[in-house]
Amino acid sequence: MYDKLIPPTTGSKITFDHGQPIVPNDPIIPYIRGDGTGVDLWPASQRVLDAAVAAAYGGDRQINWFKVYAGDEACEVYGTYQYLPEDTLGAIREYGVAIKGPLTTPIGGGIRSLNVALRQIFDLYSCVRPCRYYQGTPSPHKNPEQLDVIIYRENTEDIYLGIEWKEGSETGKKLIDLLNTDLIPNTPEHKGKQIRLDSGIGIKPISKTGSQRLVRRAIAHALRLPPAKQMVTLVHKGNIMKYTEGAFRDWGYELATTEFRAQCVTERESWILGNLEGNPDLSIEDNARLIDPGYDTLTPEKQQAICGEVKEVLETIGASHGQGQWKTKVMVNDRIADSIFQQLQTRPGEYSILATMNLNGDYLSDAAAAIVGGLGMAPGANIGDTAAIFEATHGTAPKHAGLDRVNPGSVILSGVMLLEYLGWQEAADLVTNGLAQAIAHREVTYDLARLMEPPVNPPLKCSEFGEAIIKHF
Ligand code: NAD
Repeated sequence: MYDKLIPPTTGSKITFDHGQPIVPNDPIIPYIRGDGTGVDLWPASQRVLDAAVAAAYGGDRQINWFKVYAGDEACEVYGTYQYLPEDTLGAIREYGVAIKGPLTTPIGGGIRSLNVALRQIFDLYSCVRPCRYYQGTPSPHKNPEQLDVIIYRENTEDIYLGIEWKEGSETGKKLIDLLNTDLIPNTPEHKGKQIRLDSGIGIKPISKTGSQRLVRRAIAHALRLPPAKQMVTLVHKGNIMKYTEGAFRDWGYELATTEFRAQCVTERESWILGNLEGNPDLSIEDNARLIDPGYDTLTPEKQQAICGEVKEVLETIGASHGQGQWKTKVMVNDRIADSIFQQLQTRPGEYSILATMNLNGDYLSDAAAAIVGGLGMAPGANIGDTAAIFEATHGTAPKHAGLDRVNPGSVILSGVMLLEYLGWQEAADLVTNGLAQAIAHREVTYDLARLMEPPVNPPLKCSEFGEAIIKHF
């Protein structure tokens, strides 16, 4: 069936049921070593993951690694421009869960990013990026330990679909003409919104399907967290982009208050219920005044709508979520994207899961990673309903390749996410504890070593950092 791949002779396949993996004790898991520093990162990471599984389950469970190829290594095996061979796609399709090192984005030849291609081919619609601080990691922030967030970034739409037209192109000009003459209404609201003829044009599609399946995973994740962290914040720029980013927010709330009605409360609902608990005699109108401080300046129609909202909340979820019950539910709130960047700096402890669209998620995950130690400590996963690929968020760092010096933390922590996805929490905990202890003992690679106070000299090599983690299990 494969052209050049040889699957392991022992082990079983992971299968999927309604988007959830069914995991045997001996799963076969394809891995892509990666280009550049992948030659250093993968061996160190695999050793840590295997040691953790062995230590946690003493031979009752084991991962059967299946080497598959992508990037430069694939070209060596399959020939020029064979960056993503059909063999590799077939193996991921067959075994469902894979892990990869960084891959060089080929320049020229019309080949797009291999990472983006993998996400699109397997419809890996949720990009999950946890940002958690390990004590002792050098950070530019005063209180990095307060940050413990997981970013759920929609991975398949938004401007990343790449629907764009160059300035001056025939189609671009046609499109601008169509918009200016037929589609932008000649109304006072749209006055001055004609598009300049020398514009490039990009399309930003945000669908209800794409938004809700992402938020569904984010809420399901929140339900698995300790009670104090059960919160999902919908991050958007809906004040400017009403029908894309604003719709994402609305669809997120809609999903939370329908599919997850028994388990969720929105922030606004919590105010209404909380107000009544503080004052059981509170009238509907006074409750409306408390949730909307500008209430008395509103038109009678708007006031009526807010009173209707208060009444409906009390009638529909008053019994199930009232009397303090709302405090035990997953809190769903929303924040404007620019304000969340500020709040991650000023009040990081107030957030848990941030669910957002592709571009916001891209910015936000790097900004949050910087607070907790940078790219060497930033893991990630791309998860769909029939496949999942775990990967560090950084690239191939070519100038460090083959020197055994870069930080394998991000690939190892991506491995922790893989273990958690398998439901092998004991092994995952061994790795995170080992990594935390290694950093606390100042046993770190150059990137962290040089920023520590005082600097660590000499730093550990990539492989030595892996050994230090194992030593601290
Ligand atoms: P990069 O992430 O490779 O490197 C940026 C900086 O981060 C470098 O200064 C490097 O020293 C540092 N760094 C990266 N990984 C590190 C680690 N494990 N430990 C310590 N420091 C680390 O970004 P780049 O140089 O812009 O990209 C290089 C190549 O990687 C490009 O071809 C790019 O397309 C590709 N890339 C791949 C992925 C991926 O596979 N997921 C992601 C980003 C970039």
